[in-house]
Amino acid sequence: MLSYEEALDHLLAAATPVAETRRLPLAAVRGRFLAEALVSGVTVPPLDNSAMDGYAVRCADVPRAGVVLPVSQRIPAGSVGAPLSPGTAARIFTGAPVPPGADAVVMQELCEHGADGRVIINDVPRPGQNIRRAGEDITAGSEILAAGTRLGPAEIGLAASVGIAELPVRRRLRVALLSTGDELAEPGQPLPPGGIYNSNRHFLRALFETYGCVVTDAGHVPDTLEATRAALREAAAAHDLIVTTGGVSVGEEDHVKPAVEAEGALSLWKIAIKPGKPLAFGHIDKVGAGGTAHTAFIGLPGNPVSCFVTFLLFLRPYLLKRMGAAVVAPPVRELVSASHWSKPEDRRSFLRARLTADGRVELYPNQSSGVLTSCVWADGLVDTPAHQTFAPGDPVRFLAFSDML
Ligand code: AMP
Ligand code: MG
Repeated sequence: MLSYEEALDHLLAAATPVAETRRLPLAAVRGRFLAEALVSGVTVPPLDNSAMDGYAVRCADVPRAGVVLPVSQRIPAGSVGAPLSPGTAARIFTGAPVPPGADAVVMQELCEHGADGRVIINDVPRPGQNIRRAGEDITAGSEILAAGTRLGPAEIGLAASVGIAELPVRRRLRVALLSTGDELAEPGQPLPPGGIYNSNRHFLRALFETYGCVVTDAGHVPDTLEATRAALREAAAAHDLIVTTGGVSVGEEDHVKPAVEAEGALSLWKIAIKPGKPLAFGHIDKVGAGGTAHTAFIGLPGNPVSCFVTFLLFLRPYLLKRMGAAVVAPPVRELVSASHWSKPEDRRSFLRARLTADGRVELYPNQSSGVLTSCVWADGLVDTPAHQTFAPGDPVRFLAFSDML
């Protein structure tokens, strides 16, 4: 059996980022991955400017509170003032450039503006007070976003703040999804005797779409070798990745393994984790490419919880790397258990658990790999070493769904 890290290393070693990039307008880049580092051509803010509505002064002119100064100019945001004459104040507004000569801004609440055009400064300003310095956010020529950054609202805002309207992003990953198992019925259809509803097909699509993949639902393949081979062959043509669920055990109804072997190559991994022991990885040859081009293949387990958890543990980092992400490892939170885990497993376990109001971690009572309710109830997974027990108050490692989705 492989350890989680060994299996993940194999998978990531094969995860080459998609090469094609394109420039897209800011309105279209949310959730995409930046293909190259972004360097600012401008300094932000471009000039020293006021952090307050108030009066720009020279501190030397205001040695004590109560000094009266004539107001020599008015500088609203968007305009540039003249140098400040000594012994005067400038009416200034938030964001307006501080005029040359002024070295502080006194907020208007500490000033009394008389009708005679003079202002009483009820403050003793310090040099630099209420002034936002040129370049305090960004200096021209500096890298503001690293290659591989996932573009969220703040990143899009930062690009806009330096005047960039389009960003280079990687092409989205095209994923074909197949489910196997003759017992599966589709939601919306009556459930035949012996049937169960196909849940994996639907949550997998949602998971892939969360990471910005373009998903083709290649359907539900009948449990025969020929049908499975044909479905794989067809999916290989126009996709970067084919993912199946179910059928990777070695039962006689499990046709994914021989089908992938016939259409390409396969390694079936037994991984020392629970849930999610079997994981298949390989490729499908593209028809007509003479064996030189292929599409990556990953076979996830059929049990819904195993499928969900192995997606997060393996597919997520694999996808992120192929999309060019700089960081693929899930952040680990070091927390404290609120529950007992008293029967140790012989495999490393990823237990469904949720956060309590006081920030501890509580286990779902039923950790069976068929109980999908646990994934809805939970906020994440407690990563538990093999042969380990824990009690309330003990430290645990928690992988939060919200950090991964
Ligand atoms: P398998 O990996 O095909 O042996 O399936 C393991 C278990 O997961 C069986 O109980 C299947 O019925 C169930 N299963 C497989 N695929 C799905 C699916 N798409 N949705 C829900 N359950 C599934
Ligand atoms: Mg099956």
